[in-house]
Amino acid sequence: MSAINIKTLIRQDVLKFLNSFDTILSDCDGVLWLHTTPLPNASDVLNLFRKLGKRIFYVTNNSTKTRDELVEKCKSLQFEAHRDEIICTANLSARYLQSKAFTKKVFVIGSKAIAKELELADISYCGIGPDIIIENKSYHVFEKDPDISAVIVGFDEHFSYPKMIKAATYLNDPNVHFIGTNTDERFPIDNDIVIPGTGSLVRCIENCAERKAIIMGKPEEYMAKVLKEQYKIEPTSTLMIGDRCNTDILFGTRYGFTTLLVLTGVSSLSNIEKWKQSKQQEERDFVPNYYIDALGDMLCYLKQLEIEAS
Ligand SMILES: [Mg+2]
Repeated sequence: MSAINIKTLIRQDVLKFLNSFDTILSDCDGVLWLHTTPLPNASDVLNLFRKLGKRIFYVTNNSTKTRDELVEKCKSLQFEAHRDEIICTANLSARYLQSKAFTKKVFVIGSKAIAKELELADISYCGIGPDIIIENKSYHVFEKDPDISAVIVGFDEHFSYPKMIKAATYLNDPNVHFIGTNTDERFPIDNDIVIPGTGSLVRCIENCAERKAIIMGKPEEYMAKVLKEQYKIEPTSTLMIGDRCNTDILFGTRYGFTTLLVLTGVSSLSNIEKWKQSKQQEERDFVPNYYIDALGDMLCYLKQLEIEAS
């Protein structure tokens, strides 16, 4: 990949570049907002893409919000959004089980959002909330629920040793589905505290279960399959915008979407320079086709396209 700085292109080439897409896949945190703060002009850019007739999808690995909650968040930060445009891992986990005609029960290590998405899909579940070690009480035995036929691991602030025991025990049966929402190792934060991300929990359960989970989020195949098969997106006319190279950009590289990195989140230009020189193909796949400092910097080009279209 070439990692071309959009700002070094002549204006006409940028307009041609933008016109070549009919679908925009945008990651959320680090691209559109940072936690609850919208990034400057990002909503104008996304809303203008929409006005110019492009399909928009919000593609996020976050497993702690439902599609409806993400629509609400988008709207509160001035991004137009509809439920069908939200591709999030809590919903994909439920969707995956539906695609398997799943009728049994799920043991969930994860958030209430996963529970809500399972409820919407009419799938029963257990495991949400604290499961702690009680002093003088054995945690080595528990009563297995015979209906459990899937384990989902997402972000769970109540992650515990008893939950590990239960998940690994259910997963001892090779017929039990094993779903991980995403593999992000850490949450991006701006101080010196390390906050383990969902990937750390998924790897932990994979380790004790001695099995690999099927991963719902970027950069893995399932999300791309849903976009291509259910939403009929055409990779050659799709732009994937992200801030994290080992998820967003790798996702685009693997499944044929043109990639645009913004520098308002996790990955930096010095990372890209290092990966460009890497001897490992997977690291070279982290290099985006294009980059720009911030999504909001696209606004001047989109405004020109809007004028030309009117
Ligand atoms: Mg991000």
